[in-house]
Amino acid sequence: FDDRDGFIWFDGALRPWREANVHVLTHGLHYASAVFEGARCYDGNVFALSEHSQRLIDSAAIMGFPLPWSRDEIDAAVMETLKANELTNAYVRPVAWRGSEQMGVSAQATKPHMAVACWEWGAYFGADALKKGLRLGIAKWRRPAPYTAPIHAKAAGLYMICTMSKHEAEAQGYQDALMLDWRGQVAEATGANVFFLKGDTLHTPTPDCFLDGITRRSVMRLAERRGLTVVERAIWPEELEGFEQAFLTGSAAEVTPLAEIGPWRFEVGATTLGLAQDYADLVHRRLNH
Ligand code: PMP
Repeated sequence: FDDRDGFIWFDGALRPWREANVHVLTHGLHYASAVFEGARCYDGNVFALSEHSQRLIDSAAIMGFPLPWSRDEIDAAVMETLKANELTNAYVRPVAWRGSEQMGVSAQATKPHMAVACWEWGAYFGADALKKGLRLGIAKWRRPAPYTAPIHAKAAGLYMICTMSKHEAEAQGYQDALMLDWRGQVAEATGANVFFLKGDTLHTPTPDCFLDGITRRSVMRLAERRGLTVVERAIWPEELEGFEQAFLTGSAAEVTPLAEIGPWRFEVGATTLGLAQDYADLVHRRLNH
């Protein structure tokens, strides 16, 4: 992904894509002292841009390396990067990390760094996913308890088990994995939140040990606008049997229907597709927030 034309914003200035490099002794690489964001730009507007910038700031602060850039400056960096790359429909990836100023677990002397990259990225799960629905395996790794990891930060270290889980699911012919939490309750997918529909009620796990996604919150509002009842609660895997529809939400994943999770089957139904359309209308500014 490093050998292409374009520009990446790096610590305050645009650099040619191929020259946006860090040293191998970067603390973020060795000890996962890194946080990131993922957003999408639609027709020149980045959906919920300031919320993403604020989450990056909050994630870095939780990790103990407060960023020297304000929310407005991060917003501006994103827009500058999109403009430099002449992109109006794109995925946006801000990332911040502790640098290579010090090696060792203690990182007091390291400096915070930040970069913003953007590129064209179509449907996260491919164009077919909206029609057919995804097939998910069930991960053996579990989302950690709130007292074992900074679960409200979008921290690179939390993605170690996501990549491992996704790879294992892919090796079994699935497209992604459903992750349970440390208690064995349903948590989320490896890069998206999960919802289940039964009748006119939408059920979603309480985000007490995983990311309370920006898309998740938007879709909850859209569902209420459609007259659905939205319930956040503990969901056990055995309950999946009783749900009629299911879908994932995320900035990259948008609203993607699920056809299958392990032994359970779901219909790619009108409610899910309606919410996917509502979300598309919202991000394209055809619908008010
Ligand atoms: N959970 C995980 C693990 C994620 O990586 C993402 C994507 N950022 C989400 C949930 C969804 O969050 P959002 O809707 O804010 O993109």
